[in-house]
Amino acid sequence: MIEILPIPAFLDNYIWLMTNGERAVVVDPGDPAPVIERLKKLNLKLDTILITHHHNDHIGGVNELVARYGAAVYAPAKESYHFAHIAVAEGDHVKLESLGCEFNVMEVPGHTLGHIAYYCSPMLFCGDTLFSCGCGRLFEGTANQLHQSLQRFASLPPETRVYCTHEYTARNIAFARGLEPHNIALQKRQEQVAKLRSGNRPSLPSSIALELETNPFLRCHTEAIRKASGAAENASPDEVFALIRNMRNHY
Ligand SMILES: [Zn+2]
Repeated sequence: MIEILPIPAFLDNYIWLMTNGERAVVVDPGDPAPVIERLKKLNLKLDTILITHHHNDHIGGVNELVARYGAAVYAPAKESYHFAHIAVAEGDHVKLESLGCEFNVMEVPGHTLGHIAYYCSPMLFCGDTLFSCGCGRLFEGTANQLHQSLQRFASLPPETRVYCTHEYTARNIAFARGLEPHNIALQKRQEQVAKLRSGNRPSLPSSIALELETNPFLRCHTEAIRKASGAAENASPDEVFALIRNMRNHY
């Protein structure tokens, strides 16, 4: 039985911790301090660190955690890192013996060019690619690349649980409602998230089913989002995506 816990870090990051009650795996530890604190509190031994991309708020804690616990680190083969790691690429498997699960590595370029995600049904650790009701910024890749990456997530089973790395949901919903004011699922999600956040609880994980209903960046094929984007009637979903990604930058 695996438990998955969010460790809040910085202003709005989550470092996800997976555990069987004895051993632990963390994803994208940008800050070592809250991870060490949680491991101590729960009396866990850190086995493995999974990295999705090279931004400092996702890797800043790696050196200290490795020095302390000797954890193995997995990171994208298409990015370079200053710490020892096992480089993984599309189609590779990361077997976590202690937790009895095996993750598939998916290359999902867009936010960064080498960005990867880790998927083991029903868990998806997607880094800064997909957010609840939103998606990552285009720092390195093109809009088409990011849209294709999101389409791969969209085709995962609807029950897939999506562990995003930032608490951006409320702001993303506000933007999404501007595009789709009549989307009932989005309205419901807004109420649910407002309740969670007022109790200082995470809005995550989300699910693919919920994102398909509410996330404008997974809905670029719909007439509602196409119209809201200002794109021509015959515009492709890729074009619509590029337009709303740009609108979100200025929101
Ligand atoms: Zn990032």
